[in-house]
Amino acid sequence: MMLSKRLSGVEESATIRMGHIAKKLQEEGKEVLNFTLGEPDFKTPEHICEAAMRALDLGYTHYTSSAGIEELREAIAEKIREENKVDASVENVIVTPGAKQAIYELMMSVLDEGDEVILLDPAWVTFESAVKIAGGEPKWVKRVEEEVKYESLESVASGNTKIMIINSPNNPVGYVLGDSELKEIAEFAVDHNLLVLSDEIYEKILYYGKRHVSIASFNGMQERTVIINGFSKTYAMTGWRIGYAVAPPEIMKGMLKIQQHSVTCAPSIAQYAALTALRSSQECVAEMVDEFKRRRDVIVMRLNEVGLRCLNPEGAFYAFVNTSNHGDGIEFTERLLKEAYIVVTPGSAFGLAGKDYVRFSFAASIEDILEAMERIESTFPEARHFRG
Ligand code: PMP
Repeated sequence: MMLSKRLSGVEESATIRMGHIAKKLQEEGKEVLNFTLGEPDFKTPEHICEAAMRALDLGYTHYTSSAGIEELREAIAEKIREENKVDASVENVIVTPGAKQAIYELMMSVLDEGDEVILLDPAWVTFESAVKIAGGEPKWVKRVEEEVKYESLESVASGNTKIMIINSPNNPVGYVLGDSELKEIAEFAVDHNLLVLSDEIYEKILYYGKRHVSIASFNGMQERTVIINGFSKTYAMTGWRIGYAVAPPEIMKGMLKIQQHSVTCAPSIAQYAALTALRSSQECVAEMVDEFKRRRDVIVMRLNEVGLRCLNPEGAFYAFVNTSNHGDGIEFTERLLKEAYIVVTPGSAFGLAGKDYVRFSFAASIEDILEAMERIESTFPEARHFRG
């Protein structure tokens, strides 16, 4: 009764909820296989942990400058210039307690009540909620197996449209936006004077020789793009809470105000750890990506063998599986849970277009993946008839 109007229509995070269900079943002694995890299951590499211990020894345990320590902001700007071909400097960079916080700060700094935000459907759950909390209105354009076209974006645009959100490599579908799609989105953003939030947090987790291109590197886009990225996925650092945004200076300053008056700064020790992550050898990233590749190959092959059509993940670590031969995604999720103790996330949690899908995270061991496929084969023996 006391909650604000802003929170109406904002759901508890579905992915976190499914994780709780898995945990509860485990506590009841069930042999649960959990495929809901949105985080790498690897340990944070040793040299990064050591950097944190050094920071502790050196007494770096106080507030830092609100936008983040200078050395880390400089290292991020350098990375963005060299890898993403975007002309960033320290003034563009804000270090945040997780990429999630950067998304929230951006929405709170630019949206007014009733402003509209275009989202590709399905989309990671936090985008819609952050838009709504900030008083914005999400407008959806379907992007599952079809590419984004200028005309489809145009069909939902209005005088109130202010932001377009993209996320490539994508959670939950696993696609990587190609050059032609990015070009259409960039043209659309320029023509309609929109800001683009480009969530690039999975940029290093790529398969099939795909490459990551930041939309901010397109002509006329840097001044209207906010790149969101972080250390959670690339360096298996979800618990350290370090993300960042690279934004035009005015927007960065707006976000900084929200940060100053909410969380003050990102955790000091974790910032020093993140600095070491960026400045050291990237071998650990390659090793983790290799392991994800092995798992992706196994899960894609086995899903297709058991008769579940799965879209080939081009990046990130999710397999988006079409369940329409067995009911919609929610029905399928319930059956998996009740009959096979397998926990996945129904695609509808990410938007209407995900209705007939479920998301398997393959941040899980190969053994668990193989065991799950055996259980699915015995729970849905009819599925094999649909083998493509
Ligand atoms: N963006 C996307 C697309 C994600 O999937 C996630 C994690 N599930 C995040 C951001 C959150 O990152 P962080 O841990 O830095 O808040």
